[in-house]
Amino acid sequence: MRPARAGRLSGPELILHGVSAAPGTTVGRAVVLDGTGANPSVTVPPAQRGEEGARARRGLEAAAAELEEIAKELRRDGRDDEADIVETGVLMAMDPGLISRVDTLIAELGWQAPEALREAADQAAAELALLQDPMLALRADDVRSVGRRAAACATGALKRATEGVLIAATLGPADVAELAQKATGIALAGGGVTAHAAIVARSLGLPMVVGLGAGALEIEDGEEVVVDGDRGILVRRPDAQRVSVARGKAENRRVARETAVARRLVPAQTRDGHRIRVLANASTVAELHEADQQGAEGVGLLRSELLFLEAPTWPSFKEQVDVLRPVLSRLAGRVATVRLFDFGGDKTPPFLRGARARGIDLLLESPAQLKTQLAAIVEAGGGTELRILVPMVTSSGQLRTVREMLGPVLGGQRAVLGAMIETPEAALRATEIASHADFLSIGTNDLTQLVLGFDREQSRTAPVTDIRVLRLMDATMRAAHVARIPVDVCGEAASDPKAMPILVGLGVDELSVAAARVGQVREWVRKIDFSAVEKESERLLHQAGHAGRQSI
Ligand code: PEP
Ligand code: MG
Repeated sequence: MRPARAGRLSGPELILHGVSAAPGTTVGRAVVLDGTGANPSVTVPPAQRGEEGARARRGLEAAAAELEEIAKELRRDGRDDEADIVETGVLMAMDPGLISRVDTLIAELGWQAPEALREAADQAAAELALLQDPMLALRADDVRSVGRRAAACATGALKRATEGVLIAATLGPADVAELAQKATGIALAGGGVTAHAAIVARSLGLPMVVGLGAGALEIEDGEEVVVDGDRGILVRRPDAQRVSVARGKAENRRVARETAVARRLVPAQTRDGHRIRVLANASTVAELHEADQQGAEGVGLLRSELLFLEAPTWPSFKEQVDVLRPVLSRLAGRVATVRLFDFGGDKTPPFLRGARARGIDLLLESPAQLKTQLAAIVEAGGGTELRILVPMVTSSGQLRTVREMLGPVLGGQRAVLGAMIETPEAALRATEIASHADFLSIGTNDLTQLVLGFDREQSRTAPVTDIRVLRLMDATMRAAHVARIPVDVCGEAASDPKAMPILVGLGVDELSVAAARVGQVREWVRKIDFSAVEKESERLLHQAGHAGRQSI
């Protein structure tokens, strides 16, 4: 039963807390894809159950046909990897196991076709989720979305307008590909920040909050809601001020994107002529597409581990080439920075459960796998200005070992090797590391977390202006410049309006930011004055610590 609700337009604001999956704020009418399940308790009479079963099958066939069509469109746009994912939905819709569950619910219990389709998909999904395998958990979302689509097809309901904020329990990749173009925001009761839906939302610049709990499914279709993807909240019955702030932010974002696209060829150069290279953090074709639209000069961080978070075992050479090539082939002649697997911590695939190490330490425990990855990156990255980035570096020895392994696989190709500076140890050893690296990349997400003791989510918006973090970044940038190698920042701070000018003032050469932020960051660069931000960064370094740049 759907619980009683306060009226749509009355009552105080109700704030639901979740997790930010894509930044930005939006206000809009809710488009509810999953309700709490207020199914009419109608039992189909036995004589009509045969026809009801046939209606359910037609629903599944229609859903499969729709998914095939979506996959075709994705292929036409060159988004083959997303098309592959959507096509697995076609197989799910034809799965005999699913069909037999639907038949049982209808024939034995007299369920109506749409409810039987949803329930059967939910049951199948719940079983997958029980296996506690993150890969299958993602598939569980996909099965649910196939059930929902088939139910809508069986109902024969006209496709609803999807302009607005999508509300659902979870979203499958096909839903996102199809609906996200018209949606202004996404809010999910479940879901995770690394799910496909979240990746696509980020790349398209759609604010998204996940993990809101069952309360999100009590929202009524058409109800006005605010999705605040920066703070990870959804607000029902938003007051006038919140609505106006959200409208303002959404409008600013829209205008900023249009400006960014229009000015994609204007160089990112400060008012006094200091050039900054703005690159994208992109691991999928969808993200790269958006980054290109906004004028990214290449990719500064391809998080290779995100592509294999659900892998049941170390991915083979071929599997890696197959996943990397669609992205890297679009970067011919441009910077393509591929980071080695940063497995461990919150990015642990099933086959590495229990491993204690992270990043390069974990890879060095499996040298054969490291060699395989190096070879796959070199193979897939042919034709790009390839850069290989080593995660969670703590010493120059790790870099030397990787370089030795890289030599034989290069086969005459050029590739440069860089170190992530994202641990305090690495920053303290920046001079030594810089002397063995071709570039440095500061990961402010981990650095702030490790230095300030914040958790990962907090650290995404943590103040890199904290003197302890500032000094470590300053030491890193100085070390890079003494070694005459470029230094970039690829953590969230690179696209934070307060932190970004400070980074430029400290001497960063490149900023690598989420695809949807590229244009905005390029615009900010054009608005600042290098000599002014240099002075400001210097002031911050001295003011807070008195001891100046030398003592870290
Ligand atoms: C970082 O730590 O800032 C970074 C860019 O790496 P990730 O967010 O993938 O850990
Ligand atoms: Mg990191």
